[in-house]
Amino acid sequence: MKITAIRVQRLRSELAPPFHAAWDPVPRRAFEASIVRVETDAGLVGIASGDTMTGFEEFEHLFVGKDPHALALHARTLATIAFHAGRYWPVEAALWDLVGRELGTPIATILGGGCQRLPAYASWGELRPAGQRADDARALVERGFRAVKIRIARDRVEQGVAAVAAVREAVGKRLDIIVDLNQWWRMAGDIERGAGPVDARRTLERLREHEVIWVEEPLDGDDLSGMRALRQSTGVRIGGGEMARTFAELRAALGADALDVYQPDAVLTLGVGGARTLGELVLRANRWFTPHTWTNGIGLLVNLHVCAGVGGGPYLEFPYDPPGWTPERRDFMLAAPVAVDADGMVRVPEAPGLGVELDEDAVAFHAAAWQRHHR
Ligand SMILES: [Mg+2]
Repeated sequence: MKITAIRVQRLRSELAPPFHAAWDPVPRRAFEASIVRVETDAGLVGIASGDTMTGFEEFEHLFVGKDPHALALHARTLATIAFHAGRYWPVEAALWDLVGRELGTPIATILGGGCQRLPAYASWGELRPAGQRADDARALVERGFRAVKIRIARDRVEQGVAAVAAVREAVGKRLDIIVDLNQWWRMAGDIERGAGPVDARRTLERLREHEVIWVEEPLDGDDLSGMRALRQSTGVRIGGGEMARTFAELRAALGADALDVYQPDAVLTLGVGGARTLGELVLRANRWFTPHTWTNGIGLLVNLHVCAGVGGGPYLEFPYDPPGWTPERRDFMLAAPVAVDADGMVRVPEAPGLGVELDEDAVAFHAAAWQRHHR
């Protein structure tokens, strides 16, 4: 079998009202996604999504004519491209999808079948007042969620800690609480400096009172020794690595024992194979492994397979913050949004490969919307 083409289709979904992502100073009035389809001379097609894939056309020839089964070689090619250009890891995920479809087996099973389902944590994306967050948290408990992630903005720590306190007060022990300070990386053009270790430590000590299960990215990603010192001095678990660009960065974090929770995203960083390798190293080091999933429903599925395949956890990130961020907005290209059941669990799809089922009408509609906006 040979790869005949890798097609990238760009989609645009308007967001009215806009989504106010806590980590982005600019309100989001549209949500864009790229669908990657790896086509073969056997008629098999693998599908994935995640990165924007901007500029990939220049590198398509490095894959065309090659055997799609050579996953390790394609991953090495993608790493060389990522050094010079974009992070085109959805190509690797689409190749896994293709192989899984050919074998008639879900990717999580191929990766080791560590578990069939994982409890979801509702990953909130907006900054909202404490009183509103108390209500939102009660709604999560009703929906079956067992954990939530709350954002704290670097310039609004007081409000953020108040939201954490209000959620704890509202739901007691019925939700585990995670906090994300989002300081490892920056949006393009955001050059303001974040908190240093002294301020971060004060924040962690306050969050410790509310028994948070981990605090994500309290410091810049360069400061691995700072993160290690923080986790050791406060006893609060620290998570990070969601946007690391290379395996080396994450291996350095592991080597420095900087984190308790490792969160690479297979469609943004390592690919499925690299994320599995890192996940296994992390689990053997007795740390937690639970990938970032904040792209779209397809990216969520890829990382679900990786996490379940290696038996990671204890939770899977489930981007969910209605009405700003709903499964329908997040998964607009899918026949049905990825769902959390009444017990708060996300199940690995039983379909072969990634279990992606596109809504081709929605894909065509949003591809036309992208064309109208960009051309
Ligand atoms: Mg995060």
